[in-house]
Amino acid sequence: MKIMVAIKRVVDYAVKIRVKTDKSGVETQNVKMSMNPFCEIALEEALRIKQSGLASEVVAVSMGSTQCVDTLRTGLAMGADRGIHVESTAALYPLTVAKLLKALVEVEKPGLLILGKQAIDDDCNQTGQMVAGLLGWPQGTFASKVLLDKEKQVATVDREVDGGLETLCLNLPAVITTDLRLNQPRYATLPNIMKAKSKVVKKYTPQDLNVEVKSDLEVVEVTEPPKRKAGVVVSSVDELIDKLQNEARVI
Ligand code: AMP
Repeated sequence: MKIMVAIKRVVDYAVKIRVKTDKSGVETQNVKMSMNPFCEIALEEALRIKQSGLASEVVAVSMGSTQCVDTLRTGLAMGADRGIHVESTAALYPLTVAKLLKALVEVEKPGLLILGKQAIDDDCNQTGQMVAGLLGWPQGTFASKVLLDKEKQVATVDREVDGGLETLCLNLPAVITTDLRLNQPRYATLPNIMKAKSKVVKKYTPQDLNVEVKSDLEVVEVTEPPKRKAGVVVSSVDELIDKLQNEARVI
């Protein structure tokens, strides 16, 4: 079985985000970019499934600018066998990414498609659900545990839901999106970084996959959150209660 993993290039989680002066979006020039943390978890899970002998190949897919190849190389250094880059300079919204993934699934025919539960730049949390819908495949979102049964061709997925855990049994092929507690992604070792340089990255354009890059969404304005006022340190519980009652008026 082949596993396809979608990995997105995003602003590194440790970078303090700056909004562009024209408020059209977030500054990405001269900013450290990395693989979306939930996508690292998705890739790690695929690699563990392959290491346990339940998959034969892990294919990493990234969509966007030329620099996505760097993110793919990181994925290849972690252990993915091949990469696919869908090159586009236009903004790719979840529905377009889902359509492109569907087209790639039709070419590659994986038994499992794993995505992050959300990208930390747009926080959409939509792509996995949309691609499952487009493919008509079962979906296990927010996975915190994945068990595969090769004989029965099912995946048992524990999902993190508000009230606790929900366990689903999915017939393969299926879509899984990963939550934070699923695993701890590995670091790429130096020899694997060197090996990754010679692994194959195939390039497509959205036109090659017959997908029109368009969106029904328009970003009107991006602004920073309002600055918070500095807090005060109170010297006693009585003072705290007094402030809550008479200043904040919340009790
Ligand atoms: P989102 O729905 O935008 O929050 O993204 C959820 C997941 O979809 C991500 O964690 C990735 O696995 C996948 N994804 C979204 N956009 C891309 C992209 N441009 N390239 C590759 N994967 C993506």
